Amino acid sequence: MALDFQLNGRVAIVTGGSSGIGLATARALLAAGANVAICARDGERLETAAALLAAGASTNGTAASARVLARRCNVLDADDVAALVAAVETRFGHIDILINNAGQGRVATFAETDDAAWREELDLKFFSVIRPTRACLPALARSDAAAVVCVNSLLARQPEPHMVATSAARAGALNLVRSLATELAPSGIRVNSVLIGLVDSGQWRRRYTAQGSQQSWEAWSGALAKGKGIPLGRLGRPEEAAHAIVFLASPLASYTTGSYIDVSGGHSRHV
Ligand code: NDP
Repeated sequence: MALDFQLNGRVAIVTGGSSGIGLATARALLAAGANVAICARDGERLETAAALLAAGASTNGTAASARVLARRCNVLDADDVAALVAAVETRFGHIDILINNAGQGRVATFAETDDAAWREELDLKFFSVIRPTRACLPALARSDAAAVVCVNSLLARQPEPHMVATSAARAGALNLVRSLATELAPSGIRVNSVLIGLVDSGQWRRRYTAQGSQQSWEAWSGALAKGKGIPLGRLGRPEEAAHAIVFLASPLASYTTGSYIDVSGGHSRHV
């Protein structure tokens, strides 16, 4: 028998739900019986993702297509975010779960990062959490099983010099989640993170393509995992990140807040 995540009829927003970890999370939430809204900036990719999700299996007699909403939204734009939240409430009536997933990493050392790049990175990592969380708060406070999950990176605890701004910004975002968890606990809203190591997603596929490697994706990503010394010897799959996210978002994690799950294949070097 499948594990019951107790998410039937719940309503979730997944930012950056058109690709990679966000898309896998939307799929897993739908399979658990939730209604799911996804957002992203590129409308074409978003529609393709929404069609994929809508074609998924019915759960508890309700077609997946009836439980998916896709809306273009830049999470850094307050008006876009407000419109997304309003659309979700109009369509589904309430909001129980927010997955702050939208974003990407910046590969650059300190020497390569100018002030504008620092500001852009700090803006992305903080406001991709701040804006959607603030906009969803009134609805989340009305839910009897409210949860926010922030998709963060292992870089938050284990910085890499070649991703200096992303590492610093991720550390700040992890710290922010701890404060949010304390402030929002009296409203019954749990706030947690997942710390991702290297997961096969749009980001890595784009880097592979950009390098113009003669190797297959399997050989290239296998060499990457080996070079990084990942104990499990491979990149993670998007659904492996999604499972941790869905657990933290679900009532099965009802006594966990201000915490995180490491999804890095053992890449973490700290205890
Ligand atoms: P993908 O590139 O596959 O997916 C990123 C998603 O975020 C896309 O849907 C993208 O759509 C969306 N997005 C990006 N910026 C915005 C924005 N400003 N507003 C709305 N949507 C946005 O990458 P991943 O699945 O890998 O990334 C998911 C999260 O996981 C990111 O925050 C990433 O930094 C984090 N992460 C991933 C790691 C990995 O190894 N994969 C490692 C550590 C962290 P669009 O571009 O159309 O807006």
